[in-house]
Amino acid sequence: MLILGAGMAGLVAGYELMKLGHDVTILEARPRPGGRVHTLREPFSDGLFAEAGAARIPDDHDLTHKYVKEFALPLEPFYPSRLHALRFDRGGREEVPIDGFTSAMEGHFGYDLGGNPERWQKIKGGTDLLPKAFADRLGNKIQYGSPVVRIEQDEKEARVVFLNAARRQTMTADNVLCTIPFSLLRDVEIPGLSSQKRDIIKNTRYDAVARVYLQTRDRNWEERGLNGFAFANGPIEIWQPTWSQPGPRGILMTYARPGEAEKITKLKENERVSTTLKQLDGMFGGVRESFERGSTKCWTEDEWSRGAWAFVGFDKFALGIAREGRLHFAGEHLSQWPSWMQGALSSSLRAVKEINELVKV
Ligand SMILES: Cc1cc2nc3c(=O)[nH]c(=O)nc-3n(C[C@H](O)[C@H](O)[C@H](O)COP(=O)(O)OP(=O)(O)OC[C@H]3O[C@@H](n4cnc5c(N)ncnc54)[C@H](O)[C@@H]3O)c2cc1C
Repeated sequence: MLILGAGMAGLVAGYELMKLGHDVTILEARPRPGGRVHTLREPFSDGLFAEAGAARIPDDHDLTHKYVKEFALPLEPFYPSRLHALRFDRGGREEVPIDGFTSAMEGHFGYDLGGNPERWQKIKGGTDLLPKAFADRLGNKIQYGSPVVRIEQDEKEARVVFLNAARRQTMTADNVLCTIPFSLLRDVEIPGLSSQKRDIIKNTRYDAVARVYLQTRDRNWEERGLNGFAFANGPIEIWQPTWSQPGPRGILMTYARPGEAEKITKLKENERVSTTLKQLDGMFGGVRESFERGSTKCWTEDEWSRGAWAFVGFDKFALGIAREGRLHFAGEHLSQWPSWMQGALSSSLRAVKEINELVKV
């Protein structure tokens, strides 16, 4: 059994199929597990960290919670209950309790991103602890640095061609589970794939997300009663991921979605940082004087994601036929929770069931 991609979808499939007695190998292009779950521990000082991708877990994402619990990972509140957040989306600058931030989120994005702040949690120590926990259990079943370039099949077997140190290699399997985002799958040769699936893979648009991180020498905004969270016009979220990490240094970050993210992505790295510094200094005051270094993450530039997320939906893609011969599909884009870890997990558990019913162990 071959699994393509070691993001949340590929990892949970590998883990569950392994537990069911299947012989699995995972081919992953990057040198690390987790895909869009990526905790940035550099270039920050003192062990501080911030999330490039998945950060928040809502209380109703049962599958995400199930695996957090299975691997005994500690959770903590996502939002601080102390001090005030800022809101700029109602005309002027307002200082609000943190539920003013989540109600702004709800107003702009719906309940899926809003509600009571207490329903939101994060993994203490960084979200990447979750994919690492899966990867630890899978051990050498994951082959890193192995981008897939071709998938073919016949009555006898499936064959996957991938690069290893730039040389083409082929692995064979009875079945293949592909969790590669469509933004990259469109460049993989798949002879014989049905034209409906090919069209969807080619035409699926991935959203842009841009995040800019500013490390500061201290958290002087706290002296003015602010917790470092803000909802700007745009709408752009501002977080202080370090509010629950030891000080004195801090990180303030912006989280721009489609509409704003493309504009930030177009800028050079130093311009992204300088415009964000100006923006956040204007909001909180004192940011410029304590600024130490900046960094950025623009997801459309990510070599192995080329975008943040996509809305396809499994039914539209499957058109009544979930798999194509020996080839099965999963990933956040094929779920009812796109743009969430829960989506990657649920779509993959569907595929695990499909494969387990098909292949006797
Ligand atoms: C900015 C951002 C914020 C988010 N916030 C949250 C949040 O707060 N909470 C939450 O629950 N979720 C959040 N998510 C969503 C969550 O991270 C994703 O839905 C989930 O991680 C996707 O998992 P996946 O396995 O489907 O895809 P991926 O994680 O993309 O995994 C696919 C894997 O395939 C690999 N790959 C690509 N091409 C090839 C190839 N040719 N050969 C081999 N391997 C290849 C990639 O390197 C990658 O590891 C966020 C995502 C982003 C980008």
